[in-house]
Amino acid sequence: MGIKSRPTDTPRSRVNATGRVRRFARRACQQLGFLGAHPILLAILCVAIIIASVGIFGLSAWSIAVPAVILAAVIAIGVANPRSKIFYPTLVRGPRNGNRVALTFDDGPDADITPQVLDILAQTGARATFFVIGRKLAAQPELARRILAEGHELGNHSWEHSRLQNFRGSRFLQRDIKKATEAINQAGQTGKPPYRPPVGLKSPNLAHAARQLGLRTMVAWSLHSRDTHGDNPDRIARRVLKKIRPGDIILLHDGHDLAGKSRPACAEATALILTGLRERGLESVTVSDLIRCSPQTGAVRQSDSARRSGVKTYE
Ligand SMILES: [Zn+2]
Repeated sequence: MGIKSRPTDTPRSRVNATGRVRRFARRACQQLGFLGAHPILLAILCVAIIIASVGIFGLSAWSIAVPAVILAAVIAIGVANPRSKIFYPTLVRGPRNGNRVALTFDDGPDADITPQVLDILAQTGARATFFVIGRKLAAQPELARRILAEGHELGNHSWEHSRLQNFRGSRFLQRDIKKATEAINQAGQTGKPPYRPPVGLKSPNLAHAARQLGLRTMVAWSLHSRDTHGDNPDRIARRVLKKIRPGDIILLHDGHDLAGKSRPACAEATALILTGLRERGLESVTVSDLIRCSPQTGAVRQSDSARRSGVKTYE
């Protein structure tokens, strides 16, 4: 069986060409991430950039300043932008060509708020992913079991949720991620859960830890509810519903990383958001279902965009 004729420049081939460009860009980002996790190679690259800069600007302050500014900007974006893939492959959203979105709840579980959120999700049949703090989950095994029993997914949001995580070494970070994964496994969810770093920040050390643990990707979000900026449920829901599109991963908080604090607006905001989703014909699923299900058929398979991004599982 041979190929008898070359295909003409059909829309399909144009789509393939676009896909190739995207794949190339993604691989380039992954290589940057690889460099971020290997400081010696990164240092060699820096020296190469400085040599090139000297070639362009001659021996002057510019030949050092320009590469320094470029490097500082790349590192700042890689660390501070939760959607950045510079230091590690990062899932930001699912396919746009369906009717699915993923509600995600961070920093719980919270003894008061999380059960309220679960009640509201159960009323509409919606599913969500709870990116839990490991030490809080381990302290509330009943709540952990309820989350899973009602069809939701647990995500790993670290054991400690240290705000100084970016200053910690790779070994500490590996232990932190593993401990939270063990708590999730003990609650009854098998395999490696999706991982979202505290505050979404990714340092080279964290990237190294994740690589050592064999995590294929980290999970960020495409739509921040800004529920960390105030406790008005109407405002939180309005912001989400104004911007939401199919494929979005929405960031909400059912808990607080600081002891004694909570997110009282979460349950009511969730109810308003779910009403708005229904009006727009959108369905909330877990992050794992968002990236592996066909929105048209409901059949479990890996979506094209997920396949292109290499996201099949989190392992
Ligand atoms: Zn958090």
